[in-house]
Order: sequence, then structure tokens, then C-alpha cells
Amino acid sequence: MKPVIALVGRPNVGKSTLFNRLTKTRDAIVADFAGLTRDRHYGNGKQGKHEYIVIDTGGFEPDATSGIYKEMAKQTRQAVAEADVVVFVVDARGGLSAQDHDIAKYLRKLGKPCILVANKAEGMKEGAQLVEFFELGLGEVFPISAAHGQGIRSLVDVALEPL
Ligand code: GDP
Ligand code: MG
Repeated sequence: MKPVIALVGRPNVGKSTLFNRLTKTRDAIVADFAGLTRDRHYGNGKQGKHEYIVIDTGGFEPDATSGIYKEMAKQTRQAVAEADVVVFVVDARGGLSAQDHDIAKYLRKLGKPCILVANKAEGMKEGAQLVEFFELGLGEVFPISAAHGQGIRSLVDVALEPL
């Protein structure tokens, strides 16, 4: 069985763009509109020696109680349940939000391997802007740029090497 990576994070942080990078397809719907990808979406991927399955998800609102957000949260919980490792994507440019804190709290309780990734980090100086993400209590922050294909290979290594 190939390891399963679930991409989790609030809408618009670049999960679908990362999914496309990891699977080298344009299958995921990349939207300029928050929350368009509402269903789980699976793809096969290969980077170097690693072969894996990726699950893209819609944006996650852990405490959503109604409508589409409740459904998105359910889909995401199911994706996380199926995953061997969770990649939690935050926005290096947008900074931390209350939603990020809620998701982090959920993931910390889960006790599954979780990699914290700051996307949209192209052209940013290492360090300074990423320090705030340590607040999430998930350890090291890995800067990547899904759109520009930066940091993808090392992300896969970090996510799958310990499995
Ligand atoms: P999702 O809602 O988390 O799936 O986010 P999407 O993949 O749909 O991307 C949301 C927006 O962020 C789109 O306009 C993307 O082009 C943009 N985006 C995604 N990755 C990057 C990146 O690495 N850098 C920058 N600058 N923009 C990105
Ligand atoms: Mg999406």
C-alpha cells in the first residue's frame, strides 16, 4: 500500500495547487474563489524514490455546524482518517488566522504525523516571517511555493521518510 498524504488547511492557502504539484496534474480545481474544492479528491504521485497517494480537500472549519462548511469539515476529517501523514498548509503571506489555530488544535489532538507547510513563500527571506507559525505548536515550519514548485521534493522527503 502506498502511503497516503492528506492536504489540510483553510480555503485559498494553495492546497489544490500543491496537489497538482504532488501529482503533476491539473486535476485539482485551482480557484481564485475560496472553498471551491468541496469534495475529497485523490491522486497518485511520485517524487524521487517516493510513491504516494495525495488527498486534496476543501477548506476546513473544524467547528462548522451547518451547510457546506459542515460537509467540508466532514470530508476533511475523513481524509485525515485515511491519511498516514497530514500536510497542514498555511499561507506564508497571509499570516496566521483564527482558523489556522482551530485546525492546529484539531491536528495536535489527533496525534497523527503532521507536517506544517507555509505556502506562497517564493521570494521570501527564510526565517523572519515564518516565526509566527511556531505558535501553532506543530514544530518546524517548511516554506514552499506550490505555484513555483519550490520545496516540493524536500516536503515529500520530510513527510514520507519517517513512515
Ligand atoms: P486552496 O483553496 O487551498 O485549494 O487554494 P488554491 O490551490 O485554489 O489556490 C488559491 C490561490 O492561491 C490561487 O490564486 C493560487 O494561484 C494561489 N497560490 C497557490 N500556491 C501559491 C504559491 O505558491 N504562491 C503564490 N503566490 N500563490 C499561490
Ligand atoms: Mg482547493
